[in-house]
Amino acid sequence: MTEQEKRILTIIEEMTLDEKVAQLVQLAPPFFEGAANEGQITGPMAAIKVNKEVVRNSGSVLGTSGAREVIHIQRTHLKNNRLGIPLLFMADVIHGYRTIFPVPLAIGCSWDLELAEKSAEIAAKEAAISGVHVTFAPMVDLVRDPRWGRVVESTGEDPYLNSQFARAFVRGFQGENLQNDFDRVAACVKHFAAYGAPEGGRDYNTVNMSERQLRESYLPAYKAAIDEGCEMVMTSFNTVDGIPATGNRWLMRDLLRDEWNFDGVLISDWGAVKEMIPHGVAEDEREAAYKAIQAGVDIEMMSACYIHHLKELVESGWVDETLIDEAVFRILRLKQKLGLFEHPYRGADEKREKEIILCEEHRQAARELATKSCVLLKNEGVLPLNRDKKIALIGPFAQSGDILGPWSCLGSKDEAIPLYDGFKMKVDPSLLLVAKGCDIETTTEKQWQEALDIAREADVIVLALGEHSDMSGEAGCRADIRLPRVQLELISELKQFNKSLIAVLFNGRPLDLHGVVDQVDAVLEAWYPGTEGGAAIADLLFGDANPSGKLTMSFPYSVGQIPVYYNCFNTGRPKDAPDAQERYVSQYLDIPNEPLFPFGFGLSYTTFSYSEVVLSSDYMTPDQPLSISVNVTNTGKVAGEEVVQLYVRDIAGEVVRPVKELKGFQKVFLQPGETKKVTFTLTEEQLRYYHSDLQFTSDAGTFVAYIGPNSRDVMALTFKLVK
Ligand code: BGC
Repeated sequence: MTEQEKRILTIIEEMTLDEKVAQLVQLAPPFFEGAANEGQITGPMAAIKVNKEVVRNSGSVLGTSGAREVIHIQRTHLKNNRLGIPLLFMADVIHGYRTIFPVPLAIGCSWDLELAEKSAEIAAKEAAISGVHVTFAPMVDLVRDPRWGRVVESTGEDPYLNSQFARAFVRGFQGENLQNDFDRVAACVKHFAAYGAPEGGRDYNTVNMSERQLRESYLPAYKAAIDEGCEMVMTSFNTVDGIPATGNRWLMRDLLRDEWNFDGVLISDWGAVKEMIPHGVAEDEREAAYKAIQAGVDIEMMSACYIHHLKELVESGWVDETLIDEAVFRILRLKQKLGLFEHPYRGADEKREKEIILCEEHRQAARELATKSCVLLKNEGVLPLNRDKKIALIGPFAQSGDILGPWSCLGSKDEAIPLYDGFKMKVDPSLLLVAKGCDIETTTEKQWQEALDIAREADVIVLALGEHSDMSGEAGCRADIRLPRVQLELISELKQFNKSLIAVLFNGRPLDLHGVVDQVDAVLEAWYPGTEGGAAIADLLFGDANPSGKLTMSFPYSVGQIPVYYNCFNTGRPKDAPDAQERYVSQYLDIPNEPLFPFGFGLSYTTFSYSEVVLSSDYMTPDQPLSISVNVTNTGKVAGEEVVQLYVRDIAGEVVRPVKELKGFQKVFLQPGETKKVTFTLTEEQLRYYHSDLQFTSDAGTFVAYIGPNSRDVMALTFKLVK
């Protein structure tokens, strides 16, 4: 035990049970504003009945608006708190604080770990100087169902890629020296666990899967974040094998604490302790509190089961006080790690807020990441745009700053660059016409007419279409994942002019793009690109930047295919089985099996050619890794960046193995005509998987290595693992 930890124990010895329990409570600012008396809090927190004593002793605060408020609350708190224990301030800083970066699903599509880390570092800095100590990020839930609104918060459907991003985000948020680097914040990985697999894609819904699948696909990214030193973990709302995660002792104690050795703070998700009542595993708040503390939840977020019942549970002998002490210990140690006992205001600084937030450097980084996150899905030679042509920019997102996406909590659409403003940076205003055409889900005759008028006059039509940001994110689930009908009608209507049609899409999930892809000449998936969105998209559309994003979640052919993801299993009746008969294979009668756009897919303004793949040997051993190389050449006329992807398949496992698994990727930037050799090293460790007895080992035998620009268009070479 370190000297610092001993000091914490001394503090805990001095604390009363009331004071300890209050440390496990998280409150919102209104509770600290003297309005904390019963009945004075409205909204979702109204059920939290706390007296002044609890407020005075409470441990943490969720959601503040800036340095001034944090300093004020902390100062008052320290005056009133008997032992001078500072408050921890937490917030959802998900893809930026005030300088908003693209949504995480978009960041995933950049395949750019360095820029992802940079985005988290910038978000941390802006948040830290505004007084935030902990961010509820990264969200690393693996996602396979685009009906679920929260796919927008994830980096996608691949465990390996998500793990890489998890690490990058944690590094960016926390830096290397959290204690002394006041420009960083502690990270909280969420939502533990498997929140990304709700049945039917409906938020909060049941998650049912085998432990093997959980370990193989869903857990790696949380583990990666923890291995990277992530200080906090948040529980999820769903059940895991019938038990809500927040009360799941196997998940939190056996796995998270004992097996993974996580010794940081575990926080419930919002109200998740109390939700064990409607879930049907607790009769009342008291039982919910009991289950959560037994499972190891240290902080209860936004419900009051702990504060109303933990003391009595201890006094009546139901809960051992050491459980409370351990939770308090972890919370106080985090405060200590953040230096809060000596520096209770940490980085909070109103002057720096003014200088640094949304500064040019931050905006530039947001612009760069946004250009790398957009994915060009189709281009029939109409992009980049010709600056001498007259452009009609039409659609609900043409002039809208509402392009920040869900969870851009303190971002403001007034600070964002709409697409139209981005266009104005590129072309003579006389060549630019703009009209809305419709709102996201409705239109008026006037709006419609204005769009037709400018379309008639223009040489090329750029459509800015999409979903409202409320249509994804928490509780933003959709069963029909097409563009709203009115927007599809707008596309059809504009077809009559026989002009180049380019669609730029703003949305938070893979969409069913029928009625779009088949109607227009080019599609740029822009997601919610953040504060610099309009500028970044204009860079791409006018050829000042070359699209390089690649999808990290498959775009379904139709909603009926969902879930559709690249790393699936074969059936015994795949189409290519040796004796497959035409009808009797695993397929739909009415749509193809393949997604519309596969994982890893994205176009560029240039073309890349791949040489034959070369393996260092036709076998590998545990001591002798395999090296796999390919020469990639830029065969087009402009410089561009390619994401070279390596997949592997284990031909015959002890249990069925995915048809492809991403094992590596490299981004290469190539000038026209330039060739670069890309080499991957594949080790035996990367071929391990969970067997039926949950042992994580590899099997000797035949494997296939695939290399290519996406998960579909690959070259395959066979090798053996010899053990
Ligand atoms: C969400 C979390 C979020 C928390 C705090 C919850 O509803 O599920 O992701 O961090 O609220 O805002």
